[in-house]
Amino acid sequence: MWDAIVLGLGGMGSAAAAHIAARGKKVLGLEQFTPAHDRGSSHGSSRIIRQAYFEDPAYVPLLLRAYELWHDLETQSDEPLYLRTGGLMVGPTDSVLVQGSLRSAREHGLDHELLSAADIARRFPATAPRDGEVAVFEKPAGILFPEACVRAHLKRATADGAELRFGTPVDAWRADEGSVEVTLVSGERCRAEHLVVCAGAWLPRLAADMELPLLVERNVMHWFQPTSHPELFGPDRLPVYILDRGQRFMLYGFPDVAKAGIKAAFHHSDQFTTPQELNRTISTAEIDKLRAALVQWLPDGGGKHLAAAVCMYANTPDLHFVIGRHPRHHNVIVAGGFSGHGFKFCAVAGELLAELAFDGTSSKPIYLFSPQRFKKERQPT
Ligand SMILES: Cc1cc2nc3c(=O)[nH]c(=O)nc-3n(C[C@H](O)[C@H](O)[C@H](O)COP(=O)(O)OP(=O)(O)OC[C@H]3O[C@@H](n4cnc5c(N)ncnc54)[C@H](O)[C@@H]3O)c2cc1C
Repeated sequence: MWDAIVLGLGGMGSAAAAHIAARGKKVLGLEQFTPAHDRGSSHGSSRIIRQAYFEDPAYVPLLLRAYELWHDLETQSDEPLYLRTGGLMVGPTDSVLVQGSLRSAREHGLDHELLSAADIARRFPATAPRDGEVAVFEKPAGILFPEACVRAHLKRATADGAELRFGTPVDAWRADEGSVEVTLVSGERCRAEHLVVCAGAWLPRLAADMELPLLVERNVMHWFQPTSHPELFGPDRLPVYILDRGQRFMLYGFPDVAKAGIKAAFHHSDQFTTPQELNRTISTAEIDKLRAALVQWLPDGGGKHLAAAVCMYANTPDLHFVIGRHPRHHNVIVAGGFSGHGFKFCAVAGELLAELAFDGTSSKPIYLFSPQRFKKERQPT
C-alpha cells in the first residue's frame, strides 16, 4: 500500500512525484515509456518561461512560485534547467498578446518595458518588427530545458525514496472510499491511498468518466540555420519571442542555443488527433509555411532546415488547465489540459498536486483550473 501513485512521469508527473516524495510519503510513479522520452508533450530541448502572462493575470502568482521552485531544483541538478534570455511579446498595441501581457505586468507590478518597433529593431538586430508593432519586454523570461527538468524531478523523487517504474503502462484504475487500485497492462495491481493522474495527451482515456472536453492537437517544432549573421541569433542577442500578427496562430521561437539552430513553431495548428493516430511525418509544405512566417520576423533566420519534431498539446475549450479533485473520488487528483503552455508550471503544479492530495487544499489560487467548470457550461440556464 503506497501513500500515492503518480500515473505518468512526464513534465507534471515527475514534478508531482518529487513534491510528494519530499513530504516523506511513499510514492510509486508509473510511466509507460522511458525517462524524459519524446512521445508526449515534454520534449524538444526548450520551453518558454515568462511572467507577464497574456493568457490571464491569475497565472502570475503561480509563475512567481514556479521561478522559485525551478531555481531550487536547478541548485540540486547536475545540468542547467533555465537560461535567462529575456522575452519579447510582439504585436500591434491592441493585440491580445500585447494587451494581455501588459495587463498581467501592471496588475502584478512586474518589471517590464514597452518597446516601439524602432526600439525592438535597434536592441535586437536580427528582428524585423513592422511599423506600428510594439513589444512587451520582460527580462526574467527565458528557456527551460524540458528533458533536463524532467530528469531533475525524477532524480529528486528517487533521492527522497520514490519508486519509479518505466516501461510500465497502466491499464485502468478504480477508487473506493479508502484507497485506489491501479491495474497495469501486465496485470499487476498496485494500491495507494491517493492517485495523481498526470497522463498528458492520454488523459481522455485515463479519466474517461470525468468527460473532460479535451482535444489532442499535433504541433511541430522546427530548427533552422540562419542564412547570415549567426552572431545575432545567440541567446545574448535574441530573446525568446511570441509574435501576434493577427494570423490564426501566433508564432514563437528561441535563439540559437548551443549552435543547434534557431527553433520556431506555431502556437496551435487545428490538427486534432489522438496519441495513437499522431502523424509524426513532417511535410515540406509545413516547413515552407513556418519558414515563410519566420523570415518576416527574422529575415536571416530561415536558412537550412535542420530538424523538426512532433509534439502533442492537450487542449481544453478555454485553454486553461485542469488541476483538481475527481468529482466523485476525493482520493484522485487530476492534472491535464495544459493546452500548449503548461511546461513552465510543472514545478509549481507538482507542489499544488501534493498539497491537494495531502492537505486537501492548495496554497495558490487555482479557480481557473476547476475540472467542474465544463459541467457548469452544459447546465441549462
Ligand atoms: C511543441 C510544444 C511546444 C510547447 N511549448 C511550450 C512552451 O514554450 N512553454 C510552456 O510552458 N509550455 C509549452 N508547451 C506545453 C508543455 O510542454 C505541456 O503543457 C507539458 O509538457 C505537459 O506535461 P504533461 O505532464 O501533462 O504531459 P507529458 O509530459 O506528455 O506527460 C504525460 C505522461 O503520462 C504518461 N502516460 C500516459 N498514459 C500512460 C499510461 N497508461 N501508463 C503509464 N504512463 C502513461 C506518458 O507516457 C507521459 O510521459 C509546449 C508543448 C508542445 C507540444
